[in-house]
Amino acid sequence: MTNNTQQKNLSYYCKSFAKLKVQTKYQPILLLIIIDLISQNIIEENKILISDELLNKFKKYLKILSPESKKPGMQYPFIALKNSKILHFKFKPDVKEELTTINKSISKFKQAVEYVCLDKELFVFIQDPKSRKELIDTLIGVYFSSSQKELEEILQINQSFEEAANKELEEREKKRKFYMRNSLLRDAFFRKAVIQAYDYRCSLCQLKVTKSLSQNIVEGAHIKPFAQFYDNNIDNGISLCKNHHWAFDRGIFSIDDNYQVLISDNFSEESPNSKPIRDFQGETILLPNSQTYFPSLEAIQWHRQNIFRQ
Ligand SMILES: [Zn+2]
Repeated sequence: MTNNTQQKNLSYYCKSFAKLKVQTKYQPILLLIIIDLISQNIIEENKILISDELLNKFKKYLKILSPESKKPGMQYPFIALKNSKILHFKFKPDVKEELTTINKSISKFKQAVEYVCLDKELFVFIQDPKSRKELIDTLIGVYFSSSQKELEEILQINQSFEEAANKELEEREKKRKFYMRNSLLRDAFFRKAVIQAYDYRCSLCQLKVTKSLSQNIVEGAHIKPFAQFYDNNIDNGISLCKNHHWAFDRGIFSIDDNYQVLISDNFSEESPNSKPIRDFQGETILLPNSQTYFPSLEAIQWHRQNIFRQ
């Protein structure tokens, strides 16, 4: 590109997110946390204070997302993201803008920096749920899984989120609202774990279309709806292309206990150029390599009884 003024659209930010210079996972984790806090309206304007809440969340997520990490100097991801021009610093009035001082420790950093802010265009994108999802999926796609062999790692993260959430759920006496607020990243890792277990293919039609690590045609669908059961375990998931996800959620098809497709009688369909949904009747769905990740019979029974329209 010869343009000096690069347009800061969503794709620009996805690209900058994808090419962070990282040796550790601190930068993507910090970005995920900032996005999470914005989505929860805990960060309401583009002035991000280096609060204890932010730093504690960082420690907590680091433990889940990168358990092998040593305790970092938490100033480093902020400084690195500043160098990538994603974050900007607002120094306190009496402070010289010297990176050497803030480099030393997080407390020196907090003493010098009043707040940090995101590129203003980026802040706007994060407020929109659809672009937010794309940004999160980019970070997760690039830094937290890149190949089949890392599936175990993603599943472990998904599982750790489940355990942490369940603990939280007990502690907070099942306060639904609080629990829901914490579901953004869990949801992203759930979707990622599911589609990876199915090798990015639709379980019904086996379609696989990928554009980049974070963009593909399948979705990790919940069999029992998350909003009702809060169940992000992988065996409550199934990988489906967008069309078949839609059809599954509306009970147009379901699965029997042998993982064979059941088709409803209550819909009409014209599909001159691709295989009609009806023609999948009786076929066995595509399943993950390991039986541990298969949809649970309990979940698919629930789907048959409550969603499927025979
Ligand atoms: Zn499909």
